[in-house]
Amino acid sequence: MRDFDLVVIGAGVAGLTAAMFAARYGLNVVVVDQLGVGGQISNAEKIENFPGFPQGIAGHELGPLLHEQAEAASAEFALDTVERLEISAEHRMVHGAAEVLRARSVIITAGSRLRSLGIPGEEKFVGKGVSHCASCDGTFFAGREVCVVGGGDSALDEAVVLAEHASRVTIFHRGKNLRAARALLDKASATQKIEIALETTVEEIIGEDAVTAVRLREGSAGTSRIQNTSGVFVYVGLEPNTAFLQGVLKLDPAGHIETDILMQTSVTGVFAAGDIRKNSVAQLAAVAGDGATAAISAWRYLKARS
Ligand code: NAP
Repeated sequence: MRDFDLVVIGAGVAGLTAAMFAARYGLNVVVVDQLGVGGQISNAEKIENFPGFPQGIAGHELGPLLHEQAEAASAEFALDTVERLEISAEHRMVHGAAEVLRARSVIITAGSRLRSLGIPGEEKFVGKGVSHCASCDGTFFAGREVCVVGGGDSALDEAVVLAEHASRVTIFHRGKNLRAARALLDKASATQKIEIALETTVEEIIGEDAVTAVRLREGSAGTSRIQNTSGVFVYVGLEPNTAFLQGVLKLDPAGHIETDILMQTSVTGVFAAGDIRKNSVAQLAAVAGDGATAAISAWRYLKARS
């Protein structure tokens, strides 16, 4: 068993920032992630709202930069799936599939995953037309018609990525108003291949071996119709990765970790940062700030006990 001052669970932007700050404050810190570094940004083609990058930066470039900075500050990294967190008066035991880490404090930055629609055909056609990753799968749809489901920043962002490959991209949004940032809406509106269909619910994904169409319900009258499409990209929000924390920390009804303004959770010495916590605005600049706050809180917590 290895001992650390601090274990950071999750190597996304919040976790990498927390690790960099904690290491610079002199803590002996390890970051554990099941997939390597970067987290959700790894699939982002271009991030345009992270401070300091006026021309934007690709997610696969930003992740390694943050990793390099944390490593240069002496943070360690481990590839493992955290299955359980065990709390005792003295220690916080982080149980991974491969090893158990004994920590004096923990920062949880395990992030979120993309929510599914839960409609017929969705699960059946994953990898056969249904996708959650425009930058990974967009090229498979070169010259074909695809649709995006959702009305937030992700839906608009990814529709722009898909428009580089597809012949037409239709965004289906269930509401009357999109919630995406103005800049993203302007960009999507300026892309001729993108069409936005409001008050349109996707009720079923149809096909034989692969997706060929979606069944829609449209407008206030709720008219039903079929539209042909080759791909369905689902961006209908995020769900926090907190299943392994049930019964350990206080979570809100949606599963987000409750924290105070200093990122302290309901268990002393355990902090949370990023979009896994309640009331996160889920923007990169904000989650990096959360990570820094959590690291300084952990350092103060440990200093008061040394
Ligand atoms: P989001 O902001 O939660 O938006 C989810 C969208 O999906 C909403 O329009 C919602 O409709 C719709 N929706 C939810 N459940 C649905 C269902 N069952 N059927 C049909 N539609 C459904 O999620 P997000 O766009 O993934 O963004 C998550 C967070 O990441 C946000 O804080 C966002 O700002 C951030 N983000 C930022 C960027 C960027 O800055 N470039 C890029 C991506 C994500 P209603 O509006 O009707 O509820």
